[in-house]
Amino acid sequence: MKIPESIRIGGVEYAIRYEKNLRDGNNLLYGQISYDDCHITLSESDGTSHQKRCQTLLHEILHGIRNHAGLEIENEEEIVDMFAKGLYQVLQDNGARLFDLKERL
Ligand SMILES: [Zn+2]
Repeated sequence: MKIPESIRIGGVEYAIRYEKNLRDGNNLLYGQISYDDCHITLSESDGTSHQKRCQTLLHEILHGIRNHAGLEIENEEEIVDMFAKGLYQVLQDNGARLFDLKERL
């Protein structure tokens, strides 16, 4: 999986940024989505693997889809995390079977 410079969710373009020591108060974060500023920030800390960044990107995309739908979900973090990890595995292992992966001109 590649991490693009931006991604469109619900017709809105979200820039993807990187930040060392990404935090929410005292908590270190792997990622964060800003609905108002339309960007996703991923942790740039050295200990974060590419695989973890990809899972985190999917996690934040799923939050964005939920927000675009205007849906409130109880236990959103757990549900989003389950689908992000599951989707990452399925897409990684089956991407060539599911998508035409030829470069578009
Ligand atoms: Zn989350």
